[in-house]
Amino acid sequence: MYNAIPIHFPNAIIISELEDQILDDFKDCGLDPENTLWATSFCSDEVNNVFHQFNDIFAGPGPFILGGISGLPFAGITGMKAFLSHVPTHGAAIIMYGPHIGVSRDGQLGQVNRHHQFGLSTCCGSLVGALSNIEHKEELPTSNPLDYQQARVIQHLYHKRKEIFSDSYPLKKATDVAYDAIHLKLTRILEAIENELTDLKIYLMGGVVINTDWDIENYFEIRNMDFRVYP
Ligand SMILES: [Zn+2]
Repeated sequence: MYNAIPIHFPNAIIISELEDQILDDFKDCGLDPENTLWATSFCSDEVNNVFHQFNDIFAGPGPFILGGISGLPFAGITGMKAFLSHVPTHGAAIIMYGPHIGVSRDGQLGQVNRHHQFGLSTCCGSLVGALSNIEHKEELPTSNPLDYQQARVIQHLYHKRKEIFSDSYPLKKATDVAYDAIHLKLTRILEAIENELTDLKIYLMGGVVINTDWDIENYFEIRNMDFRVYP
């Protein structure tokens, strides 16, 4: 059962282990979780609400939602500034971010069995949908203003389509591409406002969420951890 996770994501840990690691890091960084506001840049998909267990350890109410579909930080500079202005006085912020990918019990990438459903459904539906939109296409598909978040997701994957579709596991590659885009955008958003930040500490935890069938604990593969102090 679930042999596919260590094959595809050898460094993945269960969410409760991630929680332990973050609490250990907080001790090392001299951070108090109860004086820390949290934000996420994960896909809107409700399977990612497994992270809401972190409400028990961080200052509430949380999280501030920076992400839209796929996990790209669609809240942008305005959303980041709003979030950081809500941080407890002399406190800290934690931002957890990344794309997600389902792995079903029988090892299918991009599929999970959700609670109260028979059978499997796509996960991340945004990335799966974007791939089907750009496969065999010579031009970037026209975007619909009623679906502007997905249009941005498609743009990101379109520019990397050669490496995505030449991979043995295109969805896994697309997830890596999405991770890089989310990480880069968050980094650039923070750089854009860093001159305005003071009396603030920010802990960043980036990685890939690996969603499992509903009755199994979800996993997270850490890609980047960063700690920034703005005196
Ligand atoms: Zn998704």
